[in-house]
Amino acid sequence: MRPAARDEAHMREALQQALAAEVTHDVPVGAVVVDASGTVIGTGRNEREALHDPTAHAEVVALRQAAARLGTWRLDGCALVVTLEPCVMCAGAILASRIERVVFGAWDDKAGAAGSVVDVLRERRLPHRVEVVAGVLAGEAEAQLRAFFAARR
Ligand SMILES: [Zn+2]
Repeated sequence: MRPAARDEAHMREALQQALAAEVTHDVPVGAVVVDASGTVIGTGRNEREALHDPTAHAEVVALRQAAARLGTWRLDGCALVVTLEPCVMCAGAILASRIERVVFGAWDDKAGAAGSVVDVLRERRLPHRVEVVAGVLAGEAEAQLRAFFAARR
C-alpha cells in the first residue's frame, strides 16, 4: 500500500474511534498507534468525560495501550495517527514515548501544538523531534467535530 493510502486507512480507524467518544458525550477525537509493519498496536478515544480524567485524551489512551502491549514505554519506529492536531500535553507524551511520526487530520487553531499555536513536536531546542503529516482526511475530521458541537448548541 502507498504510504499516503496507508495513512488514510489508519485515519479511518481513528475516525471510528472518535465516533465512539460521542457515546459518553466526549468531544470526538480518536487515535491509533501503528508499528513499523503497519499493524495497529494501540487505539484510543477521548474519554475525559467518561473517566473524569483531564489527561484521558485519545493520544494518551492510545500511547498507553501500545506501550502496555509492547511491554516498553519506548515506541521507536511507531506512528501515531489522530483525528485532531495534538495539544501541548499530548505532544509532550508523544515526545516522551519516542514516537517517530505523527499523522493528524484537522488543525486545532485554539490549542494545537503541532504547528498552529505552537510546534512542540518539531521544537529544535528539544532532544527528540517528530515527522509530522497534517491534514489527512481533514474534511471528515472537521465535519465530525462540527456535527458534535452543533448538536450541543
Ligand atoms: Zn491532547
